[in-house]
Amino acid sequence: MRDFAWVWPLTCLLAAPALAQDLDRFVDGELSGLVGTYKGIHAHPELSHQEEKTASLLASELRKAGFTVTERIGKYSDGTQAYGVVAILENGHGPRLLIRTDLDALPIVEETGLSYASHVKTKNPAGQEVGVMHACGHDVHVTTMIGTARALAASRLKWHGTVMLVGQPSEETVDGAKAMLADHLYERFGTPDLAIALHDTNSRAAGTVAITSGPALAGVTSVDVTLRGIGGHGAQPQNSKDPIVMAGEFIVELQTIVSRQENPRDPAVVSIGDIHGGAKRNVIPYEVKMELTTRAFGDKASHIILDGIRRTAQGVALSAGVPEDRQPIVTVVENESVPATYNDPALSGRVKAALIGALGTQNVFDEDPIMASEDFGLFGLPGHKIPTVMFWLGAMDPKKFADAEAAGMILPGPHTSRFEPLPEPTLRTGVIAMTSVATALLQP
Ligand SMILES: [Zn+2]
Ligand SMILES: [Zn+2]
Repeated sequence: MRDFAWVWPLTCLLAAPALAQDLDRFVDGELSGLVGTYKGIHAHPELSHQEEKTASLLASELRKAGFTVTERIGKYSDGTQAYGVVAILENGHGPRLLIRTDLDALPIVEETGLSYASHVKTKNPAGQEVGVMHACGHDVHVTTMIGTARALAASRLKWHGTVMLVGQPSEETVDGAKAMLADHLYERFGTPDLAIALHDTNSRAAGTVAITSGPALAGVTSVDVTLRGIGGHGAQPQNSKDPIVMAGEFIVELQTIVSRQENPRDPAVVSIGDIHGGAKRNVIPYEVKMELTTRAFGDKASHIILDGIRRTAQGVALSAGVPEDRQPIVTVVENESVPATYNDPALSGRVKAALIGALGTQNVFDEDPIMASEDFGLFGLPGHKIPTVMFWLGAMDPKKFADAEAAGMILPGPHTSRFEPLPEPTLRTGVIAMTSVATALLQP
C-alpha cells in the first residue's frame, strides 16, 4: 500500500493539487471527521423501516464524495416505501462490485454511559414506546462506508470498474434487502459481479478482522405460536383449559427438538424471545402468544425444527384436552425469515488475501460460522448466483478485550444495551479493510 497513487474527487480537482499519499495516511486524515460522524449517527438511531434521516445523511455524504446517488429505493411487502440508498461510481472497464451497509438500530434502551449514547425514544410498530440504540453497530458500518467511498473516489488510478454502494434499511427485521430487490435494484442499477459487506463484532479486538469461508451465518425462520385454551376463574381450574400451564410444558419440551430430534452435527437453535398471556393473577386467560426464533444452516434442519414446533404444540394441546376448534396456531413469519449467509470460498480467499495485505497476517483471523443471521446473502440471489462475502470487523477496546479474555469473560456484544464499539481504531480498520478489499476486487 506504500505506493498508493491518489487522485482527488473531480469536485476537488481544481481546488487541490494531486497528492501522492498512501491509504493509511488518507484514512488518518479523515479519521477525526469520521469519528464525529459516527458519534452523531450513534446518538440518533432509527428503528427498522424508519431510517429516513440515517439514509439521507448517508446519501448526502456519498454525493459529496462524488457518487451518483439515488434515494428511497425499496418496497416492503405491505407496499410501504423503504429508505434504501444506492450510490454509483463508474471508473472504466472492470467488475461491478456491490458494497453494502445496513442502516437500522434496535428497540433497546442504551446503557453504555457513553457521552454520545442514545437517549432516543420512539414508538415500535405495536405502538409501544421503546428506547432506540445502535446496538448492532450499523452506525459503524454506515461510517465505514462513507470513509470507503471517499478513499475509493480519491484513488481511482488504483482500481477499474464500477462501485455500487448500497445503504440497506431494515436488516434487523430482515426485510430490507428483499424490499430493495423487489424494487428492481439490479434492473435499475445493474447486476453486480460480486458483493461484499462487513459486520462489527465483540469477538475480536479493534484493529483486527476475521473471515469465514463457506456457510458463515445461520438462516433464520421466525415463528409465531399461539396456544389456545379455555379461560376461567383462577380458583376453578377444573372448568378451564389453562394455556399458561400448556405454555410451560411447551417451552420445556421445545428444547428437545435441538437436543433429541436434530442431528447434533448440524447446529440449530430454538429460542423464545417474547411471551404474552394473561392480565390478572386470578384469571386464567384464553390464550398465550409466543414469538420464536429458530436458526439452522440448511433446509433439512429447518424442516425438523418447524415440524417439531408444530408437533410439540399439538401434543401439549392434546394432553390438556383442548377442543378441536381451539388447536394451537403455528405461523411462519416469512418476512422475518432468511436463508443462511454463504461466503463464496473463492471470493473469501481473495478477500482474505487483501485483508492480510492491508492489515498484516497477525490482524486477520479465521472465524467459525455463527448462529446469528443476516439478510445480506439475499444480494447474492437464489443459488448463490452472485458470489458474496461478509467479513467481521473487530470493534472492542483491545485492552478491555484482552482483560476479559484473560478472565474467561466476553464483553457485551451486539443486541445488548452495553455493546460499545471503540470508534478508533475500529473505523480506521474498517475503512482500510473495505477499501483494500474493494481495490483488490476491482481489477480488470
Ligand atoms: Zn443485529
Ligand atoms: Zn447487525
